[in-house]
Amino acid sequence: MAADLVVRDALIADGSGGPLGQGDVAVKDGLIESAGGEPVHAGPATIEIDGRGDLICAPGFIDVHTHDDAALVRYPGLEFKIAQGCTSLVVGNCGFSAFPGIGEDDIETIASADWPDLETYRAEVTAGGFACNAMALIGHNTLRIATIGRTESRAATVAELASMRGEVRRAMEQGACGLSTGLIYQPGKWTPTEEIIELATAAGEAGGVYATHMRDEGERLLESVAEAIAIGRSSGCLVQISHHKAGGEENWGKVADSLAAIDRANADGADVTLDFYPYTASSGPMAEYVTAETVTQDWAEHNLFATCPPFPQYQGRYVSEVAAAEGISSAELVRRVQATAAGRRTISIGFGMSEGDLLSNIGHPRVMIGSDGVPELDGLPHPRLFGTFPRIFARYVRELGVIPVAEAVRRMTSLPADRFGLAGRGRLIPGNHADLVVFDPAQIRDLATYQDPKREPAGIGAVVVNGELAVHNGLHTEARAGQLLRYRCS
Ligand SMILES: [Zn+2]
Repeated sequence: MAADLVVRDALIADGSGGPLGQGDVAVKDGLIESAGGEPVHAGPATIEIDGRGDLICAPGFIDVHTHDDAALVRYPGLEFKIAQGCTSLVVGNCGFSAFPGIGEDDIETIASADWPDLETYRAEVTAGGFACNAMALIGHNTLRIATIGRTESRAATVAELASMRGEVRRAMEQGACGLSTGLIYQPGKWTPTEEIIELATAAGEAGGVYATHMRDEGERLLESVAEAIAIGRSSGCLVQISHHKAGGEENWGKVADSLAAIDRANADGADVTLDFYPYTASSGPMAEYVTAETVTQDWAEHNLFATCPPFPQYQGRYVSEVAAAEGISSAELVRRVQATAAGRRTISIGFGMSEGDLLSNIGHPRVMIGSDGVPELDGLPHPRLFGTFPRIFARYVRELGVIPVAEAVRRMTSLPADRFGLAGRGRLIPGNHADLVVFDPAQIRDLATYQDPKREPAGIGAVVVNGELAVHNGLHTEARAGQLLRYRCS
């Protein structure tokens, strides 16, 4: 029997970070049959992909920080991820997940909790079909809104805590990989550390991950990292620091200090890993950052309107620039935007990080790649949604030469697969699931920009998910071969 698919004569980056190999990668029945060495079946496969001797075949990339929970239903083709070579996504980040449902359809622009639990979510997304594999975190904000409410700024009662703990346990039983927090958002920011430890312990008992958007990513970055490490120690969870960064010019350089603190903790028995995205701008719901009362001129000069439903003509322009053009103050402009119901769904992009801190992140062996893209395609999303993974190769591997290509692949494959329990993925070894990407290391590049962010990258010829071609000859096939994975189950 011939193989179903063979990538012929490629450079093989097997996910381990070791030297590139050369040869064929064969796929049969959704699994990798051979990678390098002698092909098990010498004859032609049903589908032949020419590796040309200089294209890289790697395990499909894993985007560990996504907000694609609702996108699995809304944009099931997930073209913005598939086109980057991503074959698996971790959803439910920053404390917001698709479950447990709260009976509201617009909790945040980044997710909508419409499903009572992970099993009902799995049933619905699986019935519809979707393009990438996904692994789910249960979000603490979603859980707390469902149990206590969005605007309660108090600690949980004993009964509420028991109820939330039960939900975390149930999610883990249903295949979640852990608990996420978003401690700058409501209601996460009102949560005492002890309450998070209680809930994380329910995940830790199942060997799970505590993934955190920390309380502060600027002035109090180091204190926030210390809290995350302490939560990991007390709960027994593995710790994932999400979108590791230092915002605000006065805090530039702290990423290196934070990584040093994490190295010390790991040497001392902790198990902390991180992710980052390769851009100096962040993005999120504008209402979480400013109101008419709090907006400053400095903020207005460093922040763009990304998606602005009531005033799409503002999109792609700085807040200060729009205010000047309209002949009003930035405060008046923010009030105008936020006065409408749709205005609260406005997303902004803020330039507040340093290139040096990005270099510190990419230079650290425990730092993975997470796009943090917000899949809102109606406006102008942050270019990270379409560009993150190719940008690592274009800028940090090829242009700056700060990380070898095989190591960049490891950070996108085996490292995240091990951390988030994507069993049988992340390495090109026989018997693993056939999630593959074939790209040209000389050509792979991001094309998405802040003004034109919905451009798919260049240099990626083929993407395979569970043995099915999702991209062939650079074109989407519309395959829906993704699966909602269970933690540490192959
Ligand atoms: Zn976040």
